[in-house]
Amino acid sequence: MTSIVVLGSTNMDLVAFVPRAPGRGETVTGREFRTIPGGKGANQAVAAARAGAEVAMIGAVGTDDFGVRLRAALDGAGVDTDLLRTAEGASGTAHIVVDDEGGNAIVVVPGANGTVTSLTHGDEALIGTADTLLLQLEIPLPVVTAGAVTARRLGVRTVLTPAPARPLPAELLAATDLLVPNEHEATALTGIADPYEAAAALLRDVPEVVITLGAAGCLHAARGGEPFTVPAPRVRTVDTTAAGDTFAGALAVALGEGRPVREALAWASTAAALSVQREGASSSMPYRSEIDAAHG
Ligand code: ATP
Repeated sequence: MTSIVVLGSTNMDLVAFVPRAPGRGETVTGREFRTIPGGKGANQAVAAARAGAEVAMIGAVGTDDFGVRLRAALDGAGVDTDLLRTAEGASGTAHIVVDDEGGNAIVVVPGANGTVTSLTHGDEALIGTADTLLLQLEIPLPVVTAGAVTARRLGVRTVLTPAPARPLPAELLAATDLLVPNEHEATALTGIADPYEAAAALLRDVPEVVITLGAAGCLHAARGGEPFTVPAPRVRTVDTTAAGDTFAGALAVALGEGRPVREALAWASTAAALSVQREGASSSMPYRSEIDAAHG
């Protein structure tokens, strides 16, 4: 079993389903409200655990009721939360309005995620036991960088999802083995719209890049090799929430198991395609047996 540590965020997603999003000063009546455990870090942790890895999560929840639920959701998925802190105050929340066309508008309040500012010796020791460290950008950038640098020093592979998009410090890029942006993030990082050209630009900073392209699949590029695309399975899309996190989690598992990169990408694409056929974030993430069955 490959072992993965996730250093990242936990958020309670507060989702209102509305016919159309309100404008400024306007009130609209929604159809339904749900609270769903999420956060990119926690989502990737659950995705990787379901895909068959041993997973531990470093991050923080708050002392509110959401914190209890966020921790329980990770525990329930089999993720080790021994080093998940409980920080005085509110948990991270994502306030999401989903309209009838499937469009959304999101406000994220970091809450406890903002308190994860440094690594303890215990965190560093845990990272050292892993095959892979999974990182995103929903906790303070200095600690993301510290995590990547620690992993690099200890010989642990680092996989970074650069979301939400923002400029990345050179020190973080220098300690990143694999960067997994979506199309928009790749463009935000490089200023280049074409994914092939964006990937080529990103290879100046990191040795390997996978740009996810939604229903069009993904593009792989590595220094010294020809870039290639892997198509996504054609499926009936119900809800693409956390497709990217499912993809990143499953890809880290397959690569951690030493599978060839094309095979790993196809397997991760199968996992993500399963997730878009179901509603929700972690609720939509497939188990390894389902991925294997669909992968054939
Ligand atoms: P999200 O923000 O919804 O989590 P993302 O924007 O980070 O996703 P995408 O590029 O949209 O990432 O999707 C990630 C991967 O999920 C794609 O590379 C693809 O493999 C799979 N995927 C996404 N949408 C679809 C779809 N409609 N059909 C099949 N596979 C899909």
